[in-house]
Amino acid sequence: MFRRAVRSLLAIVMLMTGAVVGTVATAGTAHADGCYTWTRTLSQGASGADVTQLQIRLGGYPGYGSVLAVDGSFGPATTAALKRFQSAYGLAADGVAGTNTYNKLYALQDDDCTPVHFSYSELNRCNSTWSGGAVSASAAKANALRTMWKLEAMRHALGDQPITVTSGFRSYACNNAVGGAGSSRHLYGDGADLGAGPHSLCTLAKQARYHGFPGILGPGYPDHNDHTHLDHRSGQYWSAPTCGI
Ligand SMILES: [Zn+2]
Repeated sequence: MFRRAVRSLLAIVMLMTGAVVGTVATAGTAHADGCYTWTRTLSQGASGADVTQLQIRLGGYPGYGSVLAVDGSFGPATTAALKRFQSAYGLAADGVAGTNTYNKLYALQDDDCTPVHFSYSELNRCNSTWSGGAVSASAAKANALRTMWKLEAMRHALGDQPITVTSGFRSYACNNAVGGAGSSRHLYGDGADLGAGPHSLCTLAKQARYHGFPGILGPGYPDHNDHTHLDHRSGQYWSAPTCGI
């Protein structure tokens, strides 16, 4: 709460400064975000690490059945995803990332760069090191971060009701202990099992189709009647027969 209040105050000070001096603040200027601060406006044609950072946060807005590439190159798909994000939060949907977009992203992220409603600890109930899986610890953690931003988008689209992750990253030892598949995406850090709550498992499985999850397994798929599994496999595989998927 305190951090949000400081952010709001900063925004007000920036606005007042801009009004007095008569200049428009450059995107991100003077905004000290604990995670990441953008220092320029981004639009189609731009490239760089700041585009990559933007794409990670727009990962949940690729459109139905699509996945937004995180490649540091701002192309038409990034523009479309940005417009969806802007619309979702009531911003002018111009496909240009500037002050309003960045301020919304700052408000949506914690200092460790996770979206406000999800955390690394929720995405890893296996060990504290993210090691022992199918990829390096840093890769597993990065994959989990991308999954969290997709879940944040999905959570917002479903009316800002809680979504609970019951299992995320697993080392081989953790995966074996729960009888996970040998090639499980949980070993890569991008698999997330969701439990029922405000939303049914079918609602979660259906909504996930819009938020960048090529892997969706839910009710009616073997061993998935008590959770909906989402992941970022290569190639699309959706199966939740009870839900009509
Ligand atoms: Zn799973």
